[in-house]
Amino acid sequence: MVVEGVSDGVDAVLVAARTRDDPVPCPLCGTPASKVHAYHGRTVADVPVDGRRVVLHLRVRRLVCQVPGCRRQTFREQIPGLLERHQRRTVRLTRQLSEVTRELCGRASARLARVLATPISRSTALRLLRRLPVPQQPVPPVIGVDDFALRRRHRYATIIIDAETGRRVAVLPDREAATLEAWLREHPGAEVVCRDGSAAYAEAVRRALPDAVQVSDRWHLWRNLCDKVLLEVRAHTGCWATINPPRPGGVREQSTLERWNKIHDLLGQGVGLLDCARRVGLALNTVKRYARMPEPTTLRIAPIYRPTLVDPYREHLRARRAADPAVPVTHLLQEIRELGYPGSANLLVRYLNQGRAEGDRPVTTPRHATRLLLTDPRHLRPKDTALLEKIAAACPEMTQLATLVGGFAALLTPAAGNDRKLTTWIATARSAALPHLHGFTNGLELDRPAVNAGLTLPHHNGRTEGVNTHTKRLMRQMHGRAGFDLLRHRILLA
Ligand SMILES: [Zn+2]
Ligand SMILES: [Zn+2]
Repeated sequence: MVVEGVSDGVDAVLVAARTRDDPVPCPLCGTPASKVHAYHGRTVADVPVDGRRVVLHLRVRRLVCQVPGCRRQTFREQIPGLLERHQRRTVRLTRQLSEVTRELCGRASARLARVLATPISRSTALRLLRRLPVPQQPVPPVIGVDDFALRRRHRYATIIIDAETGRRVAVLPDREAATLEAWLREHPGAEVVCRDGSAAYAEAVRRALPDAVQVSDRWHLWRNLCDKVLLEVRAHTGCWATINPPRPGGVREQSTLERWNKIHDLLGQGVGLLDCARRVGLALNTVKRYARMPEPTTLRIAPIYRPTLVDPYREHLRARRAADPAVPVTHLLQEIRELGYPGSANLLVRYLNQGRAEGDRPVTTPRHATRLLLTDPRHLRPKDTALLEKIAAACPEMTQLATLVGGFAALLTPAAGNDRKLTTWIATARSAALPHLHGFTNGLELDRPAVNAGLTLPHHNGRTEGVNTHTKRLMRQMHGRAGFDLLRHRILLA
């Protein structure tokens, strides 16, 4: 181009330019043509200068092809690399704005573009975004399949990635077996498929790629186990929560004991459950719960308290009250205030009335106890290790649970022979009185070949995790309003 002049518009820099006088090959026959038939003006936007828009007024030629017999008598010259046919922006400006839309999507791109002195509308931004090409590459040998929520609990989609590099391969609009099966048939080539424990994916892969190795993802296996462990720990709260000796004869405990006796007396006399509920004045479900308990002690559930400001002075309070049971609260308050207690008198009184100073508070919550059980023992602090030992020793079931968790964790480092060890593990788990864990072992048995592959082969689905985090960020940015097609486009562009 030849720049013929630059002038100062009100809010833009105006550049007048023309093409060179060089001959240009005819698009049809390729013979260089230089005879001008007419001139045209094109007005396009270019990248900004000095924070101002740049408007380019460009004069282009319509040339005459003088080759006899060429059906193209005249043609308008193009400027490849600078300006494309029918475009209102230079190639470099379009490239910059497209990159902005790739990161920010519609609305935010439009806002940023205005600040950058290259204003575009929201719909233009979306058009630029949709025009960005999705990289086309062959199906990788090891793929990972996972689902993610489009709307939590309502709509899910499926993402397929290269399990080795994390590259996005495809996004499917649901998590049905048929959809995945159809995609796998259209895109063959995968030899290993990593997936979660879902039966739909397993079925789709089995039908479309019967020779592919299915790998049940270790992280999903572990998470399933974690859920079951929490249920078991909860069921045994009565065993471990009051590892400290319980307060003798608390109000609640006495009433549960009385109720248990009353209900079991009535049931022993042959009274029906419903009648029994009517006579003791309790809900039918409550009566059923009592009826199921072989002993009254299993009903004792320790109250769960949140930590309070008084906790650090518990030892002091306990020692003082043991030495002098009649010590007034005001004295205790003054003493612990001198030790640094920042709380109120009320808080202390409530604490003492709840009997928390005397040590029948639960050692921790079921969730925390579960976390201790599930943490690699090498990463526990000494304090937690001591607590874990107590929790694991609370009852035979908790001891077995702790051993089983450790055993399964060891299997999660893939190694030959883990499949045989898993058989032993399942047998041990089934022999323990841990019903929730039995459900977990049933799930393992149903998907056994894939689980074996997951525990012996190095492949895993870990990279979908990062992809899904990124997807969530994209969806938040789009406020959940953009269509699935746009979302898919953006996921694949990443
Ligand atoms: Zn020609
Ligand atoms: Zn127990």
